[in-house]
Amino acid sequence: MSVFDHLEFSHHEQIVFCHDSESGLHAIIAIHNTTLGSGAGGLRMWNYDSFDAAVTDALRLSKGMSYKSAVAGLACGGGKAVIIADPHISGEKREKLLRAFGKYVQSLGGRYWVAEDVGISVDDIKIIMEESDYAFGLPDGSGDPSPFTALGVFEGIKAAVKFQLGYDTLEGIKVAVQGLGHVGSYLCGHLHEAGAKLIVTDINQDALNRIASDYGATVVEPDAIYAQDVDVYAPCALGATINDATLLQLKATIIAGAANNQLKTMKHGDILHNKGILYAPDYVINAGGMINASGDIYGIYSREEATQKTLALYHTLMDIFTESHRSNRPTYIVADEIAETKLRGQQSESVAGD
Ligand code: NAD
Repeated sequence: MSVFDHLEFSHHEQIVFCHDSESGLHAIIAIHNTTLGSGAGGLRMWNYDSFDAAVTDALRLSKGMSYKSAVAGLACGGGKAVIIADPHISGEKREKLLRAFGKYVQSLGGRYWVAEDVGISVDDIKIIMEESDYAFGLPDGSGDPSPFTALGVFEGIKAAVKFQLGYDTLEGIKVAVQGLGHVGSYLCGHLHEAGAKLIVTDINQDALNRIASDYGATVVEPDAIYAQDVDVYAPCALGATINDATLLQLKATIIAGAANNQLKTMKHGDILHNKGILYAPDYVINAGGMINASGDIYGIYSREEATQKTLALYHTLMDIFTESHRSNRPTYIVADEIAETKLRGQQSESVAGD
């Protein structure tokens, strides 16, 4: 099967297979769409089970970045890269891999911009930057994306509560937060301050203790989070948590959280719609980090502008909810359609976000 026949191939503009004998580099850079700007997205280092699994990840995730940036109104396209290697490789071998990869990024002349992702640290990106000018989302640039992602999710929850329940406030609203890592813990802070009641879970006991003590959150076992009697389920840990098993348990009428790829399959998005459960499309509600990091690509980072654009996710989501209701179509389909319209270089009629 050629890559053009791959299930995840979706009119990608360019796929670069990178090989370097000296370092042993095997990597893939997938540039999905640059209509709106450079293909931007993280680099993963992972011991993939197969070459196909690596291709799948690069193709799927680069398309996701195109859609995320398009709906957020950013002048960025979609890209993603994977290095096929054990993420625990260290020392000279790791440095050689990263340098060889950095030379490939440089050779693309800014068509692809690299950032951290699974298996890649800030220190790794610093090595890549010695070989390439095209890295973003760095501590001495836009900084930690998580507070911005959390702020966007908080705004998305407010929009969903207004749309679904008709409330202008989160006072007394019950939110089940799954995952108290970088994003989840900032999100709990915002929710607590807004008067929401928190039910939380994590597999990390320290994180649980901290959030329970700081915000008076009720702690439940990881498997018990879905069945909680809450208004909002906020997935901030894993993907694919909306699936056949969890749909039977969910009591929340709103799903709004930071995790990527929340729907196990598109079918689950359709079921949510038919059940009247309001789903905030993941790549729309979690765009705050990318909004913030995009300033590094533009070369004019402004924290104030990043904050304003992240706050605007409230309106972007409200427009998606409204159009979903008007046309009786699932929110994930409405969001995809907005992204695809923008990627064709056309103005979307149904949503703001510019
Ligand atoms: P993180 O690794 O800091 O936090 C994830 C948390 O989930 C950890 O505390 C972990 O212990 C917990 N966890 C893992 N398995 C669990 C389980 N079975 N049940 C409950 N908790 C579990 O990650 P993060 O940066 O906070 O990101 C959270 C999610 O949001 C991820 O899916 C990520 O891809 C997505 N996301 C993050 C950002 C960002 O700016 N960090 C941006 C967009 C999307």
